[in-house]
Amino acid sequence: PCIRFRSFTRNFVVSSSFSNDNREFVIVGGGNAAGYAARTFVEHGMADGRLCIVSKEAYAPYERPALTKGYLFPIDKKPARLPGFHTCVGSGGERQTPEWYKEKGIEMIYEDPVTSIDTEKQTLTTNSGKLLKYGSLIIATGCTASRFPNQIGGSLPGVHYIRDVADADSLVSSLEKAHKVVIVGGGYIGMEVAAAAVGWKLDTSIVFPADQLLKRLFTPSLAQRYEELYKENGVKFLKDASIKNLEAGSVGRVAAVKLVDGSTVEADTVVIGIGAKPAVTPFEAVGLNSTVGGIQVDGLFRTSIPGIFAVGDVAAFPLKMYDRMARVEHVDHARRSAQHCVKALLSAQTHTYDYLPYFYSRVFEYEGSRRKVWWQFFGDNVGETVEIGNFDPKIATFWIDSGKLKGVLLESGSAEVISKRSKKKSGAKQKVLGYK
Ligand code: NDP
Repeated sequence: PCIRFRSFTRNFVVSSSFSNDNREFVIVGGGNAAGYAARTFVEHGMADGRLCIVSKEAYAPYERPALTKGYLFPIDKKPARLPGFHTCVGSGGERQTPEWYKEKGIEMIYEDPVTSIDTEKQTLTTNSGKLLKYGSLIIATGCTASRFPNQIGGSLPGVHYIRDVADADSLVSSLEKAHKVVIVGGGYIGMEVAAAAVGWKLDTSIVFPADQLLKRLFTPSLAQRYEELYKENGVKFLKDASIKNLEAGSVGRVAAVKLVDGSTVEADTVVIGIGAKPAVTPFEAVGLNSTVGGIQVDGLFRTSIPGIFAVGDVAAFPLKMYDRMARVEHVDHARRSAQHCVKALLSAQTHTYDYLPYFYSRVFEYEGSRRKVWWQFFGDNVGETVEIGNFDPKIATFWIDSGKLKGVLLESGSAEVISKRSKKKSGAKQKVLGYK
């Protein structure tokens, strides 16, 4: 049958010669953004028989944050497992299992990444050789974990990266027999995985080149408080430390981490969390890239090629409130950008995305932990800072620039405190409930 494309080519009817391969809407990438986009297509009655999601993973979209949190709980502490955390449970929505996609008439193509695109013919080719013709295309490919090169041991058995369920399963099987764990990187993954590893009662060290944890967000003072908390929980720190190479032992598995200063840290399991890169292949070959990295879009998530959109981690979008282009690697933006894009695509909505950056983390959550900690950050971490509280039990940090409140980090704030954050966007030094 002919398929009527709605979108930039509204009411354009294509010939039936491609009929088996025509797809009205295609989402490339089967992560969280794809799952939230699918929900929005369903809400608009535009999914059934019209939407196809092409994924390189074997699973329907899931809430990726679980992989470095609940998924890594010790086996006897009820770790999270699929289907428990399929999209959209992370935002209180319906759990979209593989059956949900079937029921809604959404075609899922699993374990078959897109390898090339022809923007003239509007076709995609997948790894297995499928040719898909699209009407509108949403790129939701996210990021891939940065890796250490093989020459320095980056792919030895026992060396782990975490991005998907397969990675997390592989790490869990290592943790089950591990004694000494070294975590490389003091960012999001480093902090969450180090907290998880001590939950398994493993000898855990964290190694990073900076002088503090989460340098891209935390103030030195916040980082110091967290470092103390981690040390109390048994995590050892090697700061200002650069990796020379990872060494294999007699059976070929990683056995040590060698540092540039000549020292050696023994390890049977190494987790690398040294950042992520936007997954732009194969789209950069057709000019869909930006000077700030990722795929450049406007406030309606349109790329420079009509009919092609990009959302989530991979999209470089106008961050309206700070008047700059940005790429945001976080689940909250993945969810919101996907929903905004699909609404704009389907309903000719013209109001542009106006995002308040939001990040969060939770650590030491497992049952029996001495103290569960979580924090949320809103805004931009620019300007001078004011710290309130003493981390015993709570702390808040405010970033103030030119007399305006630009950013807020609330540690373990109550729902009441958090709900006030959007009303507290201007003025300095607010007294916030619970942080006196
Ligand atoms: P981050 O950018 O958060 O942290 C990277 C860390 O690695 C930094 O400490 C960095 O040091 C260090 N580093 C960089 N290069 C090297 C190197 N060559 N050798 C040793 N250390 C190095 O990235 P992550 O890998 O932690 O996270 C990857 C992605 O996963 C991000 O997109 C993140 O947003 C996402 N994620 C988010 C979570 C959350 O929001 N709660 C949880 C888990 C993952 P320096 O600071 O000096 O650059």
